[in-house]
Amino acid sequence: MASTYLLMAAGWAHSNLWGDMQRILNLIDGKLVPGESGEWIDSIEPATSKAHAQIAASNKADVDCAVDAASNAFNQWSHTPAARRSELLLKLAHEIDDHCERLASVEAIDQGQTITFARTVDIPRAAANLRFFATAILHDTDHVYHTDAPAVGSGASMTYVKHVPRGVAGCISPWNLPLYLFTWKIAPALAAGCTVVAKPSELSPATACELGKLAIDVGFPAGVLNIIHGYGKDAGEPIISHPSVPSISFTGGTATGARIASVAGPMFKRMSLELGGKNPFLIFEDADVDKAIDTATRAAFTNQGEICLCGSRIYAHESIFEKVVRGIAERAHTYAPGDPLDHKTRMGALISADHRAKIERIVDSAHALGGKIHCGGARPNNLPERVRDGFFYQPTVITGLVSDCDVEQEEIFGPVVSITPFATEDEAIALANGTKYGLASVVFTENINRAHRVADLLHAGIAWINCWMVRDLRTPFGGMKASGIGREGGIEALRFFTEARSTTVAFS
Ligand code: NAD
Repeated sequence: MASTYLLMAAGWAHSNLWGDMQRILNLIDGKLVPGESGEWIDSIEPATSKAHAQIAASNKADVDCAVDAASNAFNQWSHTPAARRSELLLKLAHEIDDHCERLASVEAIDQGQTITFARTVDIPRAAANLRFFATAILHDTDHVYHTDAPAVGSGASMTYVKHVPRGVAGCISPWNLPLYLFTWKIAPALAAGCTVVAKPSELSPATACELGKLAIDVGFPAGVLNIIHGYGKDAGEPIISHPSVPSISFTGGTATGARIASVAGPMFKRMSLELGGKNPFLIFEDADVDKAIDTATRAAFTNQGEICLCGSRIYAHESIFEKVVRGIAERAHTYAPGDPLDHKTRMGALISADHRAKIERIVDSAHALGGKIHCGGARPNNLPERVRDGFFYQPTVITGLVSDCDVEQEEIFGPVVSITPFATEDEAIALANGTKYGLASVVFTENINRAHRVADLLHAGIAWINCWMVRDLRTPFGGMKASGIGREGGIEALRFFTEARSTTVAFS
């Protein structure tokens, strides 16, 4: 099965095959072009640790060309009827569906996620994002305010509010759910009538490149969607600091978010920052414990724990603590790392050698702090030949950590979960709220009053009761505290890319 997907992926960029190595080119003004510097970055397949492509190492000169193209295209695109913008986005969604298997294999090779996850979550969700915003703009409404003659001053008036696209949108996305998160940004921007300069992560840029080719095929006008590849400092920061890019939609780490805010803030840019998480998963004694264990295991290890929403801190009531630890450690074995291209594999490779080294340091530190490792805590030693040199790590369950240690405070973003007992509801809430992050949270209880009471007290933008990662695209998505500012999703995402302009007519 793995070889089928390898064959499928072999042709993923045949249109720009240079020698033996695929080349990931920029999309600027409707054309696929190399970077101005002529330099390339090796793109490593995480499962094998071998280069499988080369990425244009772009810089400010490339960004300037892309912003010029986007600025030139803006007037026409922002006045293109919503029905036509919608039609193009729907065509693009359709192309993603048509190429789902091939895109999934490219994603699995480029990012290390399993082919099953790619073809059932990452790629279909990219199409769903495009469809959602393509249709949302057909049903959007604006408000009109009728004002009586006030006691003092002029007569009656009417004010209508129009949402006008803000201009060129800078969209910067991370490596963990590449096409999913890339489209989550560009879809509302394009739907709202903005043109885009987007940069996917240098660690997993391949499907964004493929999307760019599909956008050309379906007839997006030149300059409407521009995609720049390369390192954050060289190719991302010139987007953030460009004076002709008034809106910045960023998803990534908290430290990078702080850097972006320090550049864009003094320029009075509008920013949406979707940052890191250290999400608590609370299991009360009155929960459906088996369901909670199943869900907590999935929340800990899906996509190698490389989802910002993963539940990395589990708190279980002391009366069920032992059962929860045993249950999660047992189920962790079903996430044995393997070749991402094998459809039976449930855990793929970590994104890079550096990221795995970081996770190893964290687990060592947990050990040194007296933490008990119930499973995992090491690299797997039974991998298939093809992926023997890949960046794999076993699913790991740790107990016995105090809440203020680094392991409990800092985002790990890997297949490592800690479990801690609590005695009272107040204690559980205090533990859950005891980090600088505030992205997502989970509460498992069969007591409806407790469920809503606790969810309401958690410092998180998202609270799930008796479930995890259930998403309705209409709902606001985003975090509190160090997990970011702003909300994506639904109408909030469309509003982010527009300026609300009030126009008042006075009746004489
Ligand atoms: P990162 O911050 O290292 O990089 C994210 C993107 O920013 C990349 O495209 C990178 O090239 C670019 N970048 C880096 N420095 C930049 C700079 N100075 N200016 C402009 N762009 C720059 O994050 P990552 O390692 O790719 O992703 C992992 C992080 O993303 C985790 O912390 C995770 O929690 C977070 N994340 C958050 C969400 C969310 O919705 N809150 C979703 C997914 C991932």
